[in-house]
Amino acid sequence: MTALFIDVQVDDEVARDPQIAAKLAEVCPVDIFHAGPNGVEIVEDNLDECVLCELCLRVAPPGTVKVIKLYDGGAVLGA
Ligand code: SF4
Repeated sequence: MTALFIDVQVDDEVARDPQIAAKLAEVCPVDIFHAGPNGVEIVEDNLDECVLCELCLRVAPPGTVKVIKLYDGGAVLGA
C-alpha cells in the first residue's frame, strides 16, 4: 500500500540514532516508526493513520522529523 495522505521524513543523522529511534517508536500512537537494528524505519502501511498529534516532532531535534500533508499541497505539520 502506498500512502496517499501523509509522508514522514526523518533526517539521516537522527534516523541512525538508536535513542531517538526508540523514542519515536514509543510515542507514535499509530506505529509509523519502527526502531530497527539500523535506526528508525518508517512503516509505510501506517502512514495514512497519522493523527497529526505532533508527538514525533517533540522527541526529535527541531526540524529533523517532518510530517508532510500530501492532501494539503505538501504542507509540513507544525511549520
Ligand atoms: S504526528 Fe503523531 S501520529 Fe503522526 S507520525 Fe507523528 S507521532 Fe505519529
